[in-house]
Amino acid sequence: MTNQNAVASDRKSAIGVKITVTLSNSSFFSRAATKALPAPVRGGYITISRKKVARKPSDTEGGKKVNAWVDSMRDSSPTRVKSSASLSETAEHQTSWITRHPSALGNFGEIMNATKGKKIVMFLDYDGTLAPIVQDPDRAFMTDEMREAVRNVARYFPTAIVTGRCRDKVFSFVKLAGLYYAGSHGMDIEGPSKNRKYKKGNQALLFQPASEFLPMIDQVYKTLLEKTKSIPGAKVENNKFCLSVHFRCVDENSWADLAEQVKLVLDEYPKLKLTQGRKVLEIRPTIKWDKGKALEFLLEALGYANSKDVIPVYIGDDRTDEDAFKALRNRGQGFGILVSKVAKETHATYSLQEPSEVKDFLRRLVQWKRLALRQQH
Ligand SMILES: [Mg+2]
Repeated sequence: MTNQNAVASDRKSAIGVKITVTLSNSSFFSRAATKALPAPVRGGYITISRKKVARKPSDTEGGKKVNAWVDSMRDSSPTRVKSSASLSETAEHQTSWITRHPSALGNFGEIMNATKGKKIVMFLDYDGTLAPIVQDPDRAFMTDEMREAVRNVARYFPTAIVTGRCRDKVFSFVKLAGLYYAGSHGMDIEGPSKNRKYKKGNQALLFQPASEFLPMIDQVYKTLLEKTKSIPGAKVENNKFCLSVHFRCVDENSWADLAEQVKLVLDEYPKLKLTQGRKVLEIRPTIKWDKGKALEFLLEALGYANSKDVIPVYIGDDRTDEDAFKALRNRGQGFGILVSKVAKETHATYSLQEPSEVKDFLRRLVQWKRLALRQQH
């Protein structure tokens, strides 16, 4: 299967979304083509097959954009098996993907050999990585077992939670004081505070590169609440430096309506852009800051900016985590682990299927470290 990809930069758009037009019937674009992209594309790609474009003609640029968004919403949040792919093709694709991104558990020994004598720094996404994706984002709780696994990892390795969520929100889920927290896609970074006991205050605030956007984002939050209230199941979440419009409870027939409403609001704010995650549209400042930049910032804050002896490990499940996976590839250091049961185009090196495997991986990491320490003495 060959893919030819053309990149159309939506320069006229106030939103700054770039569109990758796939000229084959596959929704996956090749790694070679990805590498050929002229500039970092913040947040992700909208992939539109030629068939889809032809099937849904639209008279206006705005209409085309909404169609592209809806196609992308389907690609990132499939509600049915793609009819174009036979079961055997799907199985073959999955097998070749696993070969390219093998299990981090199955290859644990190989990973640990590469870390000998080096300092591991752990970066963990939250939703879909430490906790399963659930219908109500306010109830995306992590299990006590997972919390214990993260707590133990943080005893031996510097550990950061890097999430699209508001920092306080994710702290209310994780409830561990000894960690770094990078909320709002890394736009709100706080260091560990031993005295922080599930409450505000006494925080070691490290960096907020987008603080000037706070009033604007608050304004857009209120407008989006108003504009989306007529769409059943739509939920707008204020993540302080970015907004999430969740559509996991919205009927697929209403996705175009929702995308249209979001677009109308965003048209008024050229300093904000749209990115996408799993069953969520995200609105954030156009500043060049993402989870990859947050990873670099934290490594520098930890004193490892130019260290050859550090192994950053980033585990995440979403498109926004790709910025961090890319940052690791660019550094030529450490490795990314994508949490996914299905084949996805990714810059991660390894894969894990689901949060329970992430927990197993974290536990094995702790066991390995304890054994290594015992052998030293
Ligand atoms: Mg996630």
